[in-house]
Amino acid sequence: MSNIVIQLNSTEQSKVHEYYASKRVTRNAPGVVFAAKSNGTSITSYKSGKVMFQGGEAEQEASRWGTPNIPVTKTLTKGDRLPDNFASMSVIGSDETGTGDYFGPITVAAVYVPANKLALVKELGVKDSKMLTDDFMRKIAPDLIASLPHSLLVLRNEKYNEVQAQGWSQGKMKAILHNQALAKVLEKITPEKPDYILIDQFAERGIYYRHVKDQKNIVKENVLFATKAEQLHLSVAAASIIARYAFLKEMDKLSDQIGTTLPKGAGHGVDEVAAKILLAQGEESLREVTKWHFANTTKASRIASKKRFI
Ligand code: MG
Repeated sequence: MSNIVIQLNSTEQSKVHEYYASKRVTRNAPGVVFAAKSNGTSITSYKSGKVMFQGGEAEQEASRWGTPNIPVTKTLTKGDRLPDNFASMSVIGSDETGTGDYFGPITVAAVYVPANKLALVKELGVKDSKMLTDDFMRKIAPDLIASLPHSLLVLRNEKYNEVQAQGWSQGKMKAILHNQALAKVLEKITPEKPDYILIDQFAERGIYYRHVKDQKNIVKENVLFATKAEQLHLSVAAASIIARYAFLKEMDKLSDQIGTTLPKGAGHGVDEVAAKILLAQGEESLREVTKWHFANTTKASRIASKKRFI
């Protein structure tokens, strides 16, 4: 007897319910929204969008509706292989921003998008954040924040510089922040559980888990890593947008604090602004709003010392 599970979106799932309506049976199990018996096969449809087919003709019945879930292979090095229909599953995604910016914090967000909210999230305008402008992200992020279980962490420059001076790599900072954000979202949605967790990969699994090994609560169950993960599930795209939004708001605040608009990135324009801050407000003020160990610090002080003697 075979047992096949497929993942459907809500429209496809309703079609299944309609199709088997005359064969409906009652099944009182958690999460079950519809059950039927047809052609020697039990069909059980779950709130999560999963539909299970059990019995002699399971394969044939399931093939009317979709492709079965394929178990995840665990040992791939560059990004895990994702199950089929991954994009329509209930997933917590996480992503960070600010790591390459001299000014401002690192922000990390983890967001839960259950299967039944995928349509809403799409409706709100979420897609691959690399295709969205900062202005658009500022506009839609508050709606995402209001409607999705999430956790947002901001590693401000003071703390960043402190742990960096202790020898932490950015990889370690990110791993610990992702892990914390994921743990918080899991806690928020309990007793519900996501089908998977997807981390926008910045380190290989082994390295990631070495970084978090001393953490109290290490999130391990059903965790997948993939690069460009914002293209693989809307939860990562949403996380990326929320992290970016938080970063932009922090940059606004820091710009106010310093009295000049702080540029993003780590290019020459950044050095110029940093040099001006050095000259006008001194090293402490600059340190408070930057990732101090970046090469920009040396470049800015070189520019500043030239200007001092003009
Ligand atoms: Mg990323």
